[in-house]
Amino acid sequence: MSNVFQDIKDRVDLRELVRYYGLDVNRGGFACCPFHNERTPSFKVYEDHFHCFGCGAHGDRISSDFGLKLFDREPATPFKPSLKQKNELNMWLFKSIKIINEYIDILEKWEKLYSPRSPVDNVDERYLESLHNKGYAEMFLESLKHGDDDEKRELYYEQRDYVRKIKERLDKLDAVSRKPHFRAV
Ligand SMILES: [Zn+2]
Repeated sequence: MSNVFQDIKDRVDLRELVRYYGLDVNRGGFACCPFHNERTPSFKVYEDHFHCFGCGAHGDRISSDFGLKLFDREPATPFKPSLKQKNELNMWLFKSIKIINEYIDILEKWEKLYSPRSPVDNVDERYLESLHNKGYAEMFLESLKHGDDDEKRELYYEQRDYVRKIKERLDKLDAVSRKPHFRAV
């Protein structure tokens, strides 16, 4: 049996295969998981693997895994989209919005405070940080606040590192800002 799948492996786009099995994959690549019962999609189909954030079903050996799993599968066990998971996501959104907001505020301050006054000025690193990072942070904040459920879930599962890094950046600032290092303007 594995030979058959070996055969179609590499030739079949996983999203197409998944659609063939009747799963409705949305724009974000999420579908309702075929391995457990659910109403909101938490089954993410990537180009070369799939992962269910609800029940943990996972395949990273391309499409063959998906076919095998489906043929092998046990009757789906009822899955309650747990309140705990929803709460965790909401808590994370709430905290992340606060963190990114604060970071954007700081970047805006820096942009004004440290913009070069003359062409011979050394460009301040904080000014550069603002130039480089503000646009992305604003876009990220926008998705945190106004993204649809899929986008928010995706941020939560795949972009937590970004928020963690910004948090670390802010924490570092707290320590530094205790020292009176701000130059007089
Ligand atoms: Zn699942």
